[in-house]
Amino acid sequence: MTPLNYDIVILGTGPAGLQAAIHAARRKVSVLVMGRLDKSSLFAAAHIENYCSVLKTSGTELLETGRKQAEAFGAHLLEEDALELEKADRSFVVKSESGKEIQAQVLIVATGAARKKLGLKGEKEWLGRGLSYCVDCDANFFRNQVVAVIGNGSAAATGALTLLKYASKVYLICKQLSVVPSLERQIRESAVELLEGNWIKELRGEDELKEVVLTDTRTLPLNGLFVELGAKGIMELTLNLDIALDPESFRFIVTDKKQATNVPGIFAAGDICGPPFQMAKAVGEGCVAGISAATYVKGQGKEGAEGQEPGHDH
Ligand SMILES: Cc1cc2nc3c(=O)[nH]c(=O)nc-3n(C[C@H](O)[C@H](O)[C@H](O)COP(=O)(O)OP(=O)(O)OC[C@H]3O[C@@H](n4cnc5c(N)ncnc54)[C@H](O)[C@@H]3O)c2cc1C
Repeated sequence: MTPLNYDIVILGTGPAGLQAAIHAARRKVSVLVMGRLDKSSLFAAAHIENYCSVLKTSGTELLETGRKQAEAFGAHLLEEDALELEKADRSFVVKSESGKEIQAQVLIVATGAARKKLGLKGEKEWLGRGLSYCVDCDANFFRNQVVAVIGNGSAAATGALTLLKYASKVYLICKQLSVVPSLERQIRESAVELLEGNWIKELRGEDELKEVVLTDTRTLPLNGLFVELGAKGIMELTLNLDIALDPESFRFIVTDKKQATNVPGIFAAGDICGPPFQMAKAVGEGCVAGISAATYVKGQGKEGAEGQEPGHDH
């Protein structure tokens, strides 16, 4: 099969990948964006109300508009996952799920992060209808309501403290709180009701999640459940490229201020670079990655090509 050739291949059609495509394509380099819109974390986000200048919209609408913008500037979209990446001299070869081979001078990795799930029946159905994986995104929807957070780590503990500012009642369900002593003290001295030595064994509700059954058999009526079990960058694909990961958790890709990884010609943006998992951050990093990647291409692979070209992206 004859390989397709692009200056830049972007892995991921979430906000990071699409923004990178918009900025790169506007600089007149050839751009292919791979991935599925409906696999973006944003697709599941029913309401976005914390993105500057957008009062309230859905994740689906934002992604559809982003896709159209990227295409209007000349980026091509391929709704397929990349299955394999190989380094080939001064370029990369991407193999798609249908067997296409795509040659790229530069890669932008924007494959997002996977949130750990409870693995309970109904978890998918109640997502956005009483169940959330993101306190920062959804706390405001539960003003004066009863909520619970489940998780043992600092994301769950800080999430519970944040929710105190919104909800009328906050439970923290954990097997064993595993956080730094100062955070543990904060939790124990706060109004958060700690249900330690517990977990959830069943979710119940109808159109919306209504209650959870704990392992100690108690039933907890609630309006919202926040699952804060941590996340991990989706980078199985890039493991063979020796991209440096953060030395503490090894869950996310490390980049510099230009979104460049340690591997020349590979940039990364969005959730795969670590928290906070927010669209605004993904878009910002995508913008920088797109500009840096296009500059890299125009410098014919020479590292350190600086700045923007006159007349673009002021
Ligand atoms: C329920 C929910 C609600 C949220 N609410 C908000 C909110 O209100 N405000 C906010 O700012 N943020 C919110 N977020 C977070 C926000 O959605 C993410 O921070 C954002 O989508 C990250 O963008 P990204 O482009 O890095 O990754 P994603 O949007 O997750 O996109 C990843 C992309 O990578 C692609 N991909 C994965 N593997 C491959 C592969 N092998 N080959 C090719 N492509 C691949 C996927 O198909 C997808 O297109 C929410 C998230 C969730 C889950």
